[in-house]
Amino acid sequence: MNILHEFEYFKPKSKEEAMELGKKLGSKAKFLAGGTDLLIMMKEKMIKPDAIIDISDLEELKGIKCEEGKGAEICACTKIADIESSKELKKKYPALTYAASQLGSNQVRVMATLGGNSCHSSPAAETPAPLSALGAKVVVAGLDGEREMSMEDFIHGNRKNDLKEGEILYKFVLPEPAKHSACRYGHIGLRNAMEIDCANMAANIELEDDKETIKNVKLVMGSVAIRPLVSQAIPSLLKGKKLTDDLITKTGEAAQNEAKPISDVRASAEYRKDVIGALARRLVKEAYEAAKEA
Ligand SMILES: Cc1cc2nc3c(=O)[nH]c(=O)nc-3n(C[C@H](O)[C@H](O)[C@H](O)COP(=O)(O)OP(=O)(O)OC[C@H]3O[C@@H](n4cnc5c(N)ncnc54)[C@H](O)[C@@H]3O)c2cc1C
Repeated sequence: MNILHEFEYFKPKSKEEAMELGKKLGSKAKFLAGGTDLLIMMKEKMIKPDAIIDISDLEELKGIKCEEGKGAEICACTKIADIESSKELKKKYPALTYAASQLGSNQVRVMATLGGNSCHSSPAAETPAPLSALGAKVVVAGLDGEREMSMEDFIHGNRKNDLKEGEILYKFVLPEPAKHSACRYGHIGLRNAMEIDCANMAANIELEDDKETIKNVKLVMGSVAIRPLVSQAIPSLLKGKKLTDDLITKTGEAAQNEAKPISDVRASAEYRKDVIGALARRLVKEAYEAAKEA
């Protein structure tokens, strides 16, 4: 039966108090945000923390700040549903709000947080790829101060990340989208009902002032390696060029060659490679067309 083991429960009143508790209790404790990953792992006896530090109600860890010309800040305990429904975020970062809308079900999205999605550090997670493609910085807070890093540096592997004992993922800082740029996100699972992706991807393209030549491109793949995989091949292939049908085909091949997926219950490695090729062709084309209009 899925009965939880006994543990101590703490509900700190501030981020500082949460970090002090985290430092004092060390690896015996886990922070609780939305609980949609943590409680399942506890129920399934995959982990048995001695203490839970509930940060879900800390106002200083919640909220979206989106200013014209100044990018955005999203605090870690902001619910995925609030990201999905934010008009300001949707205008600037449609790839992120779309990814949020694709995470689980309504019931999951009203509980789950953006920070929890990165901290759980599943290779198949919905939001790290668009955050990385958008150039988001992860701000981590500890008793010694704050540290900032890229999304791809924050996630080290399956359920592994850069957080040290007592540190909290505080917020994400997103840069203002560049002029003539657009980012698109896509994912594929084996059925249409709620399920974990077998592969996902985000592509961010910036064009020169002629609105045809590619100035910058960042393509990030999820679920094809132990952490979000930032393509090295796609910028080499596309930068300085206008997108043609031939280049779109080569984009798919380059992404497939770089992806290192495994076979598991969700999909075979071969199928994942096919999916990656299709996603890369589609998303690069969509982002390119949208960037022309931006
Ligand atoms: C039915 C179901 C469907 C799902 N579908 C999807 C899906 O389609 N796509 C997807 O990506 N995920 C999916 N998930 C997984 C989950 O909902 C997400 O990963 C969610 O974003 C986790 O956030 P949370 O706030 O619930 O994290 P929690 O469960 O509270 O925490 C997860 C981990 O992160 C740590 N943590 C959380 N916040 C912080 C913080 N601010 N600082 C430090 N550590 C922190 C916790 O200690 C814990 O180790 C699904 C889950 C369920 C139950």
